[in-house]
Amino acid sequence: MLNFKDVKELLGSPKRIIIIPHKNPDADALGSSLGLRGYLIKRGHNVTVISPSDYPKFLDWMEGNESVEIFSSKKEKSFQKMIDGADIVFCLDFNSLARIDDLGKMVSKSNASKFLIDHHLDPDCFADFAFASTEASATAELIYEFIIKMGDRELIDASMAESLYAGIMTDTGQFKHRNTNQNVHYVTANLMELGADTAKVGSLIYDTNSYDRLKFLGFALSQRLTYLKEYHTAYIAISSEDLRSFNSKTGDTEGLVNYALSLEGVVLGILISEKEDGVRLSLRSKGDFSVNEFAKKFFNGGGHKNAAGGTSDLSFEDTVKKLNKILKSYTSELNAIADEYK
Ligand code: 5GP
Ligand code: MN
Repeated sequence: MLNFKDVKELLGSPKRIIIIPHKNPDADALGSSLGLRGYLIKRGHNVTVISPSDYPKFLDWMEGNESVEIFSSKKEKSFQKMIDGADIVFCLDFNSLARIDDLGKMVSKSNASKFLIDHHLDPDCFADFAFASTEASATAELIYEFIIKMGDRELIDASMAESLYAGIMTDTGQFKHRNTNQNVHYVTANLMELGADTAKVGSLIYDTNSYDRLKFLGFALSQRLTYLKEYHTAYIAISSEDLRSFNSKTGDTEGLVNYALSLEGVVLGILISEKEDGVRLSLRSKGDFSVNEFAKKFFNGGGHKNAAGGTSDLSFEDTVKKLNKILKSYTSELNAIADEYK
């Protein structure tokens, strides 16, 4: 684990710091990045958050959102300059440089000190300093603990607390997933004490659907949900044509996979979506079925035991076919897990 004496020394004088969340950042990746940004600025550092890609509009309210640089390959040189000029790079909510696309190569070549703060399984060893735990519900929980270990609790203001709270609330599935342990509630209580308005954050994330998005949700559930009873699996397959016809925006498919898993008797829920940059998979499971292993083995991905993601090199249609084929070989494993949930 991290030696905080060294970290305090490193952060003891002003530094040029870059913070990078994973591609397609969610509330945890972005909330952690902006929460940490707020803290490091208060400590007198020069901080830039670079997101490898665009992110959903329902995260725009976080303090510092307007300052986030979105990576674009067209402006690769200017990003290269930013990273070359950094003393420290923080990598948040991911543990393999492949998760930040082209920025990965730049970070790997950079002479900056590299920090990893993360809660995913199977980390790659690219960081000089790692503050990582798969026990943590969210990276945001670790950012809170990082600041506490630095002895700077009083520097956490209400806006920072709200960005961190958003990460914990979403990564625990609103305090419902198995990763919701006592520490989650303890950290949350602290964030509330520090000024986080939790009802406001809940509303900003969950009650800001566009009319198109709600219509799309109805369509996805009524037309694109496949229930494979024999495998205790349900998947939703959304083509690029579907996304176009509902005028879908970044983040509109977020949360959709949970509906597949919410079906009674289902222990494996999958979302397959044909995005601009390829076919993406989002996987959720119950009990001991490891979607991390599944995503790693078949879809160049990873994540957590019960929540993972990946990509497919095949066409959208062929990916659906491949999935059906793979599931067949997991019949007995899926049945055994389903039996435990009867
Ligand atoms: P989601 O399905 O919400 O995109 O991702 C679920 C979890 O899996 C998140 O913790 C996310 O960071 C991780 N994840 C998603 N896609 C990938 C991927 O392509 N590779 C790896 N290693 N992890 C992923
Ligand atoms: Mn996370």
